[in-house]
Amino acid sequence: MIAIVTGASRGIGKACALKLAEDGYDIAVNYRSNDEEAQKTADEIIAMGRRALCCKADVCDREQVVRMVDEVCGELGIPDLLVNNAGVVDDRYLLMLTEESLDRSLDINIKGYFLCAQSVALKMMRNKKGVIINMSSVSSLLALEGQSVYSATKGAVNSMTATLAKELARYGIRVNAIAPGFIETEMLEHIPEAKKDEYLKNIPQKRFGKPEEVANLVCALASDRLSYITGQTIVLDGGLSL
Ligand code: NAP
Repeated sequence: MIAIVTGASRGIGKACALKLAEDGYDIAVNYRSNDEEAQKTADEIIAMGRRALCCKADVCDREQVVRMVDEVCGELGIPDLLVNNAGVVDDRYLLMLTEESLDRSLDINIKGYFLCAQSVALKMMRNKKGVIINMSSVSSLLALEGQSVYSATKGAVNSMTATLAKELARYGIRVNAIAPGFIETEMLEHIPEAKKDEYLKNIPQKRFGKPEEVANLVCALASDRLSYITGQTIVLDGGLSL
């Protein structure tokens, strides 16, 4: 089995890559800039006895995405799984929003998901099977101040997930999304401690999630055991959204 995980040099993407390797997948480790961290992820996968390919590609750039997917097919084989995970958060109140920040969020969090889904689905169709998992966020369901753009991009991910699930079901491809709450990665580091304490109060489980907990859900959704689930956004947030 072969999986492409975007944004796998660290955080949730890295945890997904490692858990999937444990489950027997060979992994294409996509990333944008950090060669060293991506290589570390790949080395850990190889140490587990699986194949790993470091794929430096900006998911917002069609040429780079097409080249990456062709390289993966040539080196590893046609992907069984795409985890659209690479994303950015850039919290700003409306009046602080710059066009540059807006464009970057829309590009990475929406356009990147479409470009990767399109290129990979084209290959999966040949096999008449495949799974696409889109990393959304609980922010798509909540109104968190400063996250209007981030929430909008993740809301778009939920909508694209449902529609692509309908379009691709006839090719044996399932598409689902995961909406994590606060997960302990570098993405949380920009949040001031006082704000984090405030968020914690609203989480019934009174803790942030771990990247590995998201990765466990990715593995479950990728598996044939959940073969009748498609088009869904599954929330994993310690109860935050209740
Ligand atoms: P992270 O620690 O900031 O890691 C982001 C990853 O994305 C890195 O591997 C980075 O690669 C890669 N990346 C960024 N832009 C890219 C691009 N244009 N092309 C290719 N790769 C790119 O993020 P994370 O916290 O693990 O979050 C992963 C996903 O989960 C995101 O979609 C995020 O919105 C979602 N999420 C996170 C949380 C949370 O609390 N952490 C909660 C809900 C949802 P390089 O470093 O090599 O550039």
